[in-house]
Amino acid sequence: MTDQLLHNAAITSQLTALFRQTRFLTSAPKLALCPDDAGFEVAFAGRSNAGKSSALNALAQQRQLARASKTPGRTQMINFFALGDDETRRLVDLPGYGYAAVPEAMKKQWQTELARYLGERQSLQGLVLLMDVRHPLTEYDQTLLEWAQARQLFVHVLLTKADKLNRGPANNALLAVKKSLQAQQLNFSIQLFSALQKQGIDTLLSVLATKLAITTE
Ligand code: GDP
Repeated sequence: MTDQLLHNAAITSQLTALFRQTRFLTSAPKLALCPDDAGFEVAFAGRSNAGKSSALNALAQQRQLARASKTPGRTQMINFFALGDDETRRLVDLPGYGYAAVPEAMKKQWQTELARYLGERQSLQGLVLLMDVRHPLTEYDQTLLEWAQARQLFVHVLLTKADKLNRGPANNALLAVKKSLQAQQLNFSIQLFSALQKQGIDTLLSVLATKLAITTE
């Protein structure tokens, strides 16, 4: 291995160890009840079933971490996670609406709270937006992309469940979404991801480290 590769491997293993310490902090039903707005946050967003809980669990190497976000009563909440003892660096699991069973009025209310959080939260650095690689750029995704752009937040797109496609079709899907973002003049980053096969975790770790201002030796 070259020095550079060794260095990169050392950084990845430091970040892996750090994110393994991720722990549930608190849930908030609205912006006013969120934890102190200080430090750095990156929020995970995606339609229900996009693979958000699986991605968070894979990142933290914990089977049950994101279960908090699926507990009845918490599905509509903004769920906060801290990196170990450091509560100034947080991952946030945003409510993923899209269940047909949820009444329209409730969806509207979530949307209002989501828009408020995205619009006003000062510690929010940006979003990881998860889309099923087979069904990207839904209306929900477009809305979030536009909100993020309007607030000049970064977005890192994860095309999830990449293992469901062969390599060729997965790369074609990646290219198609890249092109669509470019056509909309959205200068966002994007990658293929599979929680099942642990594909793309190192790239995601490195994006999060940068956005959360985590320094490695
Ligand atoms: P959430 O609603 O966005 O939190 O989605 P979940 O993480 O609960 O995943 C929804 C469904 O997709 C579940 O049945 C998961 O097992 C499945 N899933 C999630 N990630 C992957 C993946 O990387 N590969 C495959 N094949 N299935 C996945």
